[in-house]
Amino acid sequence: MSKNYNISVIKGDGIGVEIVDEAIKVLKTIEDKFDIKFNFKDYLMGGCAIDATGNPLPDETISGVLNSDACLFGAIGGPKWDKNPRELRPESGLLRFRKEMGVFANLRPAVVYDELIDASSLKPEIIKGVDIMVVRELIGGIYFGEPKGKTQDKGWNTMVYTVEEIERITHVAFKLAMKRDKRICSIDKANVLDVSQLWRDTVEKIATQYPEVELSHMYVDNAAMQLIANPKQFDVMLTGNIFGDILSDEASMLSGSIGLLPSASTGLKTAVYEPIHGSAPDITGLGIANPIATISSASMMLRYSLNEEKAADAIDTAVKKALKDGYRTKDLAQFDAKEVVSTSQMGDIISKIINN
Ligand code: NAD
Repeated sequence: MSKNYNISVIKGDGIGVEIVDEAIKVLKTIEDKFDIKFNFKDYLMGGCAIDATGNPLPDETISGVLNSDACLFGAIGGPKWDKNPRELRPESGLLRFRKEMGVFANLRPAVVYDELIDASSLKPEIIKGVDIMVVRELIGGIYFGEPKGKTQDKGWNTMVYTVEEIERITHVAFKLAMKRDKRICSIDKANVLDVSQLWRDTVEKIATQYPEVELSHMYVDNAAMQLIANPKQFDVMLTGNIFGDILSDEASMLSGSIGLLPSASTGLKTAVYEPIHGSAPDITGLGIANPIATISSASMMLRYSLNEEKAADAIDTAVKKALKDGYRTKDLAQFDAKEVVSTSQMGDIISKIINN
């Protein structure tokens, strides 16, 4: 009997609709090939939800996603809603959504495809073979710590981490490392910050439970430099919220195009899988958006929420083959394209490769 998964789908606004459709197309191919059944159910969030219900995050979306095995998400936002009051903006819905889901771990892979090596601003010999997973703590640290505030002549924020918060993100990183090259570099500022000393002590304590994984530590300023100088040295990078914010953006740019980069946000409840880019209003409806970031997010969903490793591998291999065969959406057309294809053609090509 085939395995059944309930997948909540939030297409959102702009190109969100086009790219999620392609990820679903690829997942449907996976159904046939791997004897899996996905029950997809659509929910509203962002501008489309404001238009339909007056609320950027309807209650039905929260309960629907909470009751699903995983959530596939496109993007929200657009100029139509930019002048709305803060609580009626698409972004307010997204922030509240992440809080409701308790997604404390943000996973962002930065993989450089050989075929797109010229798309990066770094030299090919520096980036060839880069395959990094940044694990960023997402709902703690200085962005949330109290006290915080501002007067006319002073502003302050507080970087706070509890042992429990550090422990749970550290376990996520170690479990991931076990499925990869078994190396973790924990990034902190323990030479200056007390909270970073606690971070380092806690990571070392948890590391004793994963003797197969090699743990190293690096100060964040050095890590920023090393990511550019020698990115291949990293496998899993484990960081707190603010350091991870900066380093994950830096790492993502190693691969050259925003249209390629997936992410996972996991935590206490349902995990959410989404491309790192936004709703791209400038190219909405033109059929030129790159769906690979979303298709790769679907692969992360299979790997990390559903434990369907073989199906995830099939998607990753098909994406690489499509690029190797020279198929490019418009954003990558100048890098060794044999054929420039539309959003839906790229979904067809990846599905066809999986089927072969
Ligand atoms: P964006 O990521 O939407 O677009 C930045 C640039 O990258 C644009 O030129 C766009 O055309 C291009 N681009 C993005 N994705 C692409 C793809 N798959 N293929 C080809 N090109 C792609 O960022 P922005 O323009 O700053 O924001 C647009 C809207 O998206 C805003 O309303 C913003 O709030 C929202 N946004 C949403 C999310 C999210 O939903 N998670 C994230 C970021 C921005």
